[in-house]
Amino acid sequence: MTFQAPKGTFDWLPPRSERVLAVREALVQPVRQAGYGYIETPTFEDTELFKRGVGESTDVVTKEMYTFLDKGGRSITLRPEGTAPVVRAVLQHGLHNGQLPVKLWYSGSQFRYERAQKGRYRHFWQVGAEALGAEDPALDAELILLAWQGYQSLGLRRVELLINSLGDRECRPAYRGTLQEFLRGLDLDEETRRRIEINPLRVLDDKRPEVQAQLGDAPLMVDHLCEACKAYHEEVRSLLAAAGVPYTDEPRLVRGLDYYTRTTFEFVHGGLGSQSAVGGGGRYDGLSELIGGPSLPSVGWALGVDRTLLAMEAEGLLDDTGEGRVAVYGVPLGEEARRRMFLLMAELRRAGVSADMAFGGKGLKGAMKGADRSGARFALILGERDLAARAVQLKDLTTAEQTEVPLAQVVEIVKGKLS
Ligand code: AMP
Repeated sequence: MTFQAPKGTFDWLPPRSERVLAVREALVQPVRQAGYGYIETPTFEDTELFKRGVGESTDVVTKEMYTFLDKGGRSITLRPEGTAPVVRAVLQHGLHNGQLPVKLWYSGSQFRYERAQKGRYRHFWQVGAEALGAEDPALDAELILLAWQGYQSLGLRRVELLINSLGDRECRPAYRGTLQEFLRGLDLDEETRRRIEINPLRVLDDKRPEVQAQLGDAPLMVDHLCEACKAYHEEVRSLLAAAGVPYTDEPRLVRGLDYYTRTTFEFVHGGLGSQSAVGGGGRYDGLSELIGGPSLPSVGWALGVDRTLLAMEAEGLLDDTGEGRVAVYGVPLGEEARRRMFLLMAELRRAGVSADMAFGGKGLKGAMKGADRSGARFALILGERDLAARAVQLKDLTTAEQTEVPLAQVVEIVKGKLS
């Protein structure tokens, strides 16, 4: 019997896995440059953290969490998102008592028991950035700009930014009531009716055509913002425009997690089909209080690494086969040659040259095939006669030209040729 990866999960294999690392690196490079520090939190947390922090009425909490009792009888959940854990860590370690905002970034796996399809997995990767403890439109704009720069640096041209404001505790309650009144008058199924009472904003986000068809005249948050929220939102938009970040106002944009206030945004890509969001985030001024902390107005985002890669594929940015796996490939012929080659490989790597060799006692033909497959620029062939002459055959695999070089100088010569 052989095993398969669990449904909704997959393995990253070379050479594609290298691209994943590069994507992750590119997406976080702008935030590191803006002074965000790296944080790593556990893969699992107390279930209650997500129930309170993400929201009891969300799909994530009601349907998608991987929750289990550990051997000590504690309810544990594999993290479905990174923001609540980051806020938990900040509060636990008192980082919010120092310089504000606390700027942090993370990168890691998330787990959601979702209906698996292309671009929607049960185990996926996000990079995230959070700025905690400041209410400042420039901070919202900074984070959006940094994510935008990340996508741009990968060469993505079809990422679109949608933004909205969800108001705050001043203006949202009244709007919520107005929206509920409107929604109660519609022809909706039982579950959706229940949602109207718990989380009416989410109904606006219902993708079903029969629901969307009835939402044409729905009241919108943008028309009900209080003066402070309106001014804040205007300033975020104006800063984005000044920084040259194109955006589209999307008054229906709400997000799946309950904790968002004011600025909300999503990055979407046209080439991904139904799972079009490559990233998203927003301001979450109330989250800290929801999990027992002090008031800590904050903003952040999470970008989907898997979907960013799919977006790059859709734009033809992954087509080049790229660099070889190593620069040099060793072909030892015989026992003694293998021992010498083993040491030569180590010498090359110490000198900063990537190198691999044939293993398993292959003959010349098999070993040369390995050299070709490795994508190496040079093969180093070492036979008994070479050993006796303290030399090695250096073969340029792009030209097939072969020269004999002294073993004592080969590292230096190869290094010179590669630079
Ligand atoms: P969210 O935490 O739901 O705001 O998601 C942020 C980003 O993570 C999304 O824009 C997606 O790019 C990515 N993402 C969310 N859920 C999944 C999933 N099930 N599979 C793959 N990527 C996901």
